[in-house]
Amino acid sequence: MPLTIAGGGIGGLTTALALARHGIPSRVLERGGFAEELGAGIQLGANAVRRLETLGMREAIEAEAVRPAALHIFDAYSGKRLKQLPFGKAYEERYGVPYLAMRRADLARALFEASEASGRIELHDRFNVAHVAEQNDHVALKGPWEIKTKLLIGADGIWSSVRKSIAPTSHLVFTGHTAARSMLPATDLPAPFDAPVVTLWLGRGSHLVTYPVARGEALNVVFASHGGQPQQGWNAEARAEDVTRAATQWHDSARDLLGRAGTWRQWSLYRLHGLRRWTTQRVALLGDAAHPVLPFMAQGAALAIEDAVALADALADSRDDPAKAISHYEAMRRVRAARVTRQSARLGRIYHLGQPFAAARNLAISRQSAEKALGQFDWLYGA
Ligand SMILES: Cc1cc2nc3c(=O)[nH]c(=O)nc-3n(C[C@H](O)[C@H](O)[C@H](O)COP(=O)(O)OP(=O)(O)OC[C@H]3O[C@@H](n4cnc5c(N)ncnc54)[C@H](O)[C@@H]3O)c2cc1C
Repeated sequence: MPLTIAGGGIGGLTTALALARHGIPSRVLERGGFAEELGAGIQLGANAVRRLETLGMREAIEAEAVRPAALHIFDAYSGKRLKQLPFGKAYEERYGVPYLAMRRADLARALFEASEASGRIELHDRFNVAHVAEQNDHVALKGPWEIKTKLLIGADGIWSSVRKSIAPTSHLVFTGHTAARSMLPATDLPAPFDAPVVTLWLGRGSHLVTYPVARGEALNVVFASHGGQPQQGWNAEARAEDVTRAATQWHDSARDLLGRAGTWRQWSLYRLHGLRRWTTQRVALLGDAAHPVLPFMAQGAALAIEDAVALADALADSRDDPAKAISHYEAMRRVRAARVTRQSARLGRIYHLGQPFAAARNLAISRQSAEKALGQFDWLYGA
């Protein structure tokens, strides 16, 4: 009987592929369509790329991705470049694999095509897992039809139905931040946005991140700021004047870029409270369903990919005892996910500092050597 995975996003499809590598069949139930043109860009640090490589995905992913040469950090008001961190050759030499940036849809499509080709993965789209009931010897899922499974993996994202079923008192709390994204064609972009680099602009209560995607044909733009009303979903339309209000006093070059974006989509940022366990006897959560992470370290997809490989390895090691396997998976992953979640929140607070703390932060950033700046993330990218 195949294992069942609720959610065919980044974590769900990677789990199916990681299980298939161990010869374990699975079935993936996705509420929408697989690899729909949804979402914007995704950054993949070495920790994610290394795991995708072990799944034989590196070539397919690199065909659509960009290898940013550096991260450039700017003060959003003066436009002064505070730091230039090598993300190209030096990064690859340090971590063994490159840093990649790509469209979320391209990553999802590559994972979907590999899943279709694997021969061990059943893919069901338009299957909304609406209800989950765990029994002694199986889990019953209600959707368009009923499915019984020995083991359910809840990879159904931040608003997970599986999580609600196994931990009804867990709940999401709005952080007070809203992120908005847009995608620009990479033609006639002004400097510094015409270079193959990630840029990060630090403002008071807001920041901007840009990076090239789609083999360099487009620029992904994400603007995050305090404010907005909490809402569910990734794709709410947003008015340009509302998105960029926090940037009215920013430097011309950043404001000019924001002004070029025609359409904006926004999503609210949440923290998860009250989830004491990610696993029961027959259900395991992973990715955003288990530990939604704020986007300040760009680690949401990477953590889901790490979870997927760890869970599949644990299940392969204890084939006769899935309950033991998923409990081991949770024990292995909780500390790491908690650290990334904590550090992402901390980085967000640092990015959004107001004066006089922002001046001290800028000084510290400009004085730090590139080696030290990168080295402080060895625990993250080196794992
Ligand atoms: C449409 C979309 C756009 C996104 N855009 C961005 C972005 O621009 N920037 C960013 O940082 N992050 C974005 N994300 C989130 C990012 O992809 C995830 O944080 C990260 O990849 C973690 O992966 P995950 O597999 O845990 O969750 P996701 O990649 O979110 O996958 C969850 C999947 O589960 C499916 N699902 C949900 N509920 C059910 C259900 N009841 N039954 C069956 N299937 C279900 C969803 O349709 C989705 O495909 C987006 C996610 C989605 C779904």
